Amino acid sequence: MNIAVSACLLGEKVRFDGGHKRDDFIIKHLSKYSSFTPFCPEAIAFGTPRPSIRLINQNGNYSVFTNKDAHDVTQPLLESSYEELHKISKEKLSGIIFKSRSPSCGMGSAKAYLENGFSDSKTDGVFVTLCREKFPLLPMEEEGRLLDDWLRENFIMQLFAYDSMELLKENSPTMAILVDFHTKNKFLLQAKDEKLYRVLGNIVGNHENLPFTEIFATYEYNFKVAIAKKSSIKKNRNVLEHMAGFFKNELSKLEKSILHEQIDEYAQKLVPIIVPLSTIKLYAQKYEVTYLLNQKFLEPYPKELALRSSLSSSK
Ligand code: SF4
Repeated sequence: MNIAVSACLLGEKVRFDGGHKRDDFIIKHLSKYSSFTPFCPEAIAFGTPRPSIRLINQNGNYSVFTNKDAHDVTQPLLESSYEELHKISKEKLSGIIFKSRSPSCGMGSAKAYLENGFSDSKTDGVFVTLCREKFPLLPMEEEGRLLDDWLRENFIMQLFAYDSMELLKENSPTMAILVDFHTKNKFLLQAKDEKLYRVLGNIVGNHENLPFTEIFATYEYNFKVAIAKKSSIKKNRNVLEHMAGFFKNELSKLEKSILHEQIDEYAQKLVPIIVPLSTIKLYAQKYEVTYLLNQKFLEPYPKELALRSSLSSSK
């Protein structure tokens, strides 16, 4: 997998003051599963070090000015942003991680000002605006938001699910392969969006006998929309109950009560989701429920990332 990342988060000294903002999660953990394509539109436009810049809201349009001498630098920053956009577009990306609060890379967190110098509401940086237009379905987050366990878990799940769809596409899938892909993603999709999960089920059901290319394109679009949704304790609980139903005839009374107690405790925020999930996996192994063992929801990304082990990874 390849992720485009703000160069300063990768430890490159490209910030306006010649520094970097190395991010440990990206460098130490995510790097084990992904290569990175760095970008820095400001370093290309103005070099490093350089004067700091700010976004100014001029009647709804954002311009970029230097902080010190109020020099309008909108055009060169736009040009370098397009240059970086072109560069990352050539890669097979599975996501983008931006540096928060930057006038170029902030994703909804870039500070903007009114012409009279007063603060305006926060917005997207110049480069982020272009990326959103160019890659509407690509997983994107900024590192500031990834400090939140829930947002991080959702984003990483989306990244790996997106990547699995890209891999599927590369390998000339057939209808049978798409049905198998959907089957394995059933509970993951249900935990994201019940309605879209049903829409996707109908697409692979192909009741109108549409050509496969049409079915695949519709499936891919809806899949990518679904995985961008955020999970919740309520939705996860529903999925856990469904999974538990798969061995209602096999479990002893004691095993059943242990599992349901764990699901209840998860819903009450007393234990993280990994607790009932591990029990489900254990029972699925014990009773050889292959359908459950194949579910992406059990391990949507490498377990070493351990993103489901904290109470705050669910909301
Ligand atoms: S936030 Fe973006 S523009 Fe600023 S230094 Fe980092 S990569 Fe460059």
